[in-house]
Amino acid sequence: MPITVVGSIAYDTVRTPFGERERMLGGAAVHFALAASFFDEVHVVGPVGEDFGEAELELMRGMGIDVSAVERVSPGKTFFWEGEYGWDLNSRETLDTQLGVFEGFAPKLSEASRCSDVLFLANIQPDLQLEVRAQLPAARFTALDSMNLWIDIARDSLVKAIQSVDCVILNDAELRQLTRKPNLIAAAQELFSWGPPGPRVVVAKQGEYGAALITREGFFALPAYPLESVIDPTGAGDTFAGGFVGYLAAHPGQELSEELLRAAMAHGTALASFNVQEFGTDRVVRLNAAEITQRVTDLQQMTSFSGAPFRSRKP
Ligand code: AMP
Repeated sequence: MPITVVGSIAYDTVRTPFGERERMLGGAAVHFALAASFFDEVHVVGPVGEDFGEAELELMRGMGIDVSAVERVSPGKTFFWEGEYGWDLNSRETLDTQLGVFEGFAPKLSEASRCSDVLFLANIQPDLQLEVRAQLPAARFTALDSMNLWIDIARDSLVKAIQSVDCVILNDAELRQLTRKPNLIAAAQELFSWGPPGPRVVVAKQGEYGAALITREGFFALPAYPLESVIDPTGAGDTFAGGFVGYLAAHPGQELSEELLRAAMAHGTALASFNVQEFGTDRVVRLNAAEITQRVTDLQQMTSFSGAPFRSRKP
């Protein structure tokens, strides 16, 4: 099923203990789209400024992504984000965020992007997410990501946006902050209570520890793919979401079963593991399907176990 994504299309300046890159292609919608493009047709919606390069658009087109709903706003500057990571890459400080063309942006979806069955509202101002959601009323599967900034300054809009989707994909800490529940399962239950219809799937991203899937019926968790070298975690969450949502989109007609969702988790995890191995989008743009499948198979083998139940010494 075709996928539409709205979110930041950005230039990122990133410093990690392994180096620094200035103004590389980034943004939540871009990382998502690159990952999802392995699974289905992807339409990106969002604005860029006059400074946005034709080469970056061409890179996305080269990955089979439809960028016809990427609007060039002139005069205007592309969304810019700058961040720096701590020595173990677990902490990140945002040094600068410039919304640029996102300020005052009113999304105008192309005919093709309005017809998608799957919609991903990547991280951006929740009112914009709501505007796009309203333009795809018949979407069969909708998911959303967000961040602490919007919980802090636009919580009411974010709650409305969450009430309008099937699936919420957030970091652990963001889920707790949003729901004001210290426990992850309780936080997910809180989101389920925001319906009907409201979300029925919650994915808690846990950085290097992986991700957990919570539905009304069940629970599942996967570790991150173990890597000896991580260079730049920027966009890992969006890349995960691209693999997760992409896999679901590529299995139309199937019910949103626990089995399907778990396989989607594995594909999201595999995609994210490639993203962090190099700066920005460098690794994902060179990725191939066989490499993804190999990591999913590795994950399956790594996380399955068997063995007889223990025989207790005590009653
Ligand atoms: P992640 O590492 O998954 O949190 O995503 C990082 C990406 O999100 C970067 O490529 C940034 O351009 C983008 N980003 C950072 N801050 C924001 C924000 N306030 N709104 C939208 N996108 C953002």
